[in-house]
Amino acid sequence: RPARHHDMVLSIKLIPYGENKRLLISRDITQMERIEAMRRDFVANVSHELRTPLTVVNGFVENLQDMPDISKDNARRALQLMAEQTRRMESLVSDLLTLSRLENDQTPMSEDELDIHALLNEIYQDGQLLSAGRHTLRLEMPGKAKVLGNREELRSAFGNLLSNAIRYTPEGGEILLRWAERNEQPVFSVQDSGIGIAPQHIPRLTERFYRVDRSRSRETGGTGLGLAIVKHIAMRHQAKLEVLSEEGKGSTFTLVFPIKRVVR
Ligand code: ADP
Repeated sequence: RPARHHDMVLSIKLIPYGENKRLLISRDITQMERIEAMRRDFVANVSHELRTPLTVVNGFVENLQDMPDISKDNARRALQLMAEQTRRMESLVSDLLTLSRLENDQTPMSEDELDIHALLNEIYQDGQLLSAGRHTLRLEMPGKAKVLGNREELRSAFGNLLSNAIRYTPEGGEILLRWAERNEQPVFSVQDSGIGIAPQHIPRLTERFYRVDRSRSRETGGTGLGLAIVKHIAMRHQAKLEVLSEEGKGSTFTLVFPIKRVVR
């Protein structure tokens, strides 16, 4: 039978060793098999995610080719839907590139003294645009402004958490962005009054392409890679990602940074 999660599969080699002696070398190969299975899953997922929008676009192109007399209105509608699918493929490819850059980057991350207050003001403005008046957004920043980190990466991590809060919170909901300190450690949190997450899903949220509700994620423009990206950026900053959530009530995603990142 194929290896299961907790099995240990040994590859065994006997090597001649002196007279009448054999040296036994054994190795656990389950780990390698597991990595290979993950790689296969990943390729299958990416192919599937790209094929769906491609099929839609293809269908519209063929329809338009078959209907030379199509009305302007219908043509416009078809183009709009094609543009939507193209944007979806674009965000998927862009998230994949970000993730692969984060995973393959062997060079030490470049770090600067960042003005987090200024950065969060930018993120807050982006959030206002994305929410387009559908939510009440608040920004609180009692924490110290200066930390050591990579601006680009933190912008991406904070932005991903905020866009999730916006996408999984129904109209009229509230979202609080907060930069504070906990036992002198800098913490960034996004609290929303959205749909929440059932406890059994929480440990898997940062897996690539893991979604609680596939169709809701797709409808709102999710790629399924956002939290995988956040997790990598957190690791590179020695930060911890915490998730507190209650179904139907809302979620809080928190990044806890080490004290050494504070610039005194
Ligand atoms: P997606 O692009 O699907 O949002 P993510 O990796 O960002 O992918 O998130 C993974 C899943 O975690 C989402 O599909 C969603 O089910 C859940 N999730 C993330 N953030 C929230 C949130 N603020 N509220 C409720 N569910 C969330």
